[in-house]
Amino acid sequence: MEKINIAVDGFSSCGKSTIAKGLAKKLGYTYIDSGAMYRAVALFAYRNGWMTDTDINETELQKHISEIEISFKTNPEGQQETYLNGENVEKEIRSLQIGNGASRVSTIGFVRRELVRQQQEMGKKKGVVMDGRDIGTVVFPDAELKIFLTASPEVRAQRRFDEMKAKGENPIFDEVLANVKERDLRDTTRDESPLRKADDAIELDNSHITIEEQLQWALDLVHNL
Ligand code: C5P
Repeated sequence: MEKINIAVDGFSSCGKSTIAKGLAKKLGYTYIDSGAMYRAVALFAYRNGWMTDTDINETELQKHISEIEISFKTNPEGQQETYLNGENVEKEIRSLQIGNGASRVSTIGFVRRELVRQQQEMGKKKGVVMDGRDIGTVVFPDAELKIFLTASPEVRAQRRFDEMKAKGENPIFDEVLANVKERDLRDTTRDESPLRKADDAIELDNSHITIEEQLQWALDLVHNL
């Protein structure tokens, strides 16, 4: 079978990366976490003092946006890690502060245009599974397969809560749930490429199915193309 591009979109903490990574592994494709790229931009802006928890200096960020080069490398354990201008920033970009920052920088038009350009470049040779919010609608509108994942906010908050606990953090469930809802609102109501299901995307609510069932469902889609 010729290589295709697969777009996986959906709300935050929906398990997009789980299904996208699983598909990439089974198919021998490259997995690209587009959210990590927005996170890297937020980290870049924080580090340079152009972003705080309340403000963004868009003029400075725009002046320097073309200096941001994001890449991915697989570590010896087989996990993909994010690099910002050659530096491994995987750990730093996963904090709640940078996650919120990513959600904020992702509303800015020039940030989206630059990252979409880099993402489209990565998909040129096909064989890419990319997850995000606008992959099926903007980045790869011609993707041969588009998956749109949903799950209830409570289920997603519980998953994020469990992840944080596993990392040794001490989260408060109601705060995590409020954060999930806040991000959903920002993702769906922003002017620039709001999160929406592409007309030709296939939707799956994974609130009550296992990871294995979900992956098999997606592989069946690929094989029935
Ligand atoms: O998926 P993840 O939570 O890592 O993404 C971080 C933020 O980046 C999201 O809250 C979302 O607002 C934004 N994002 C986006 N478009 C994408 C991927 C992520 O706007 N394609």
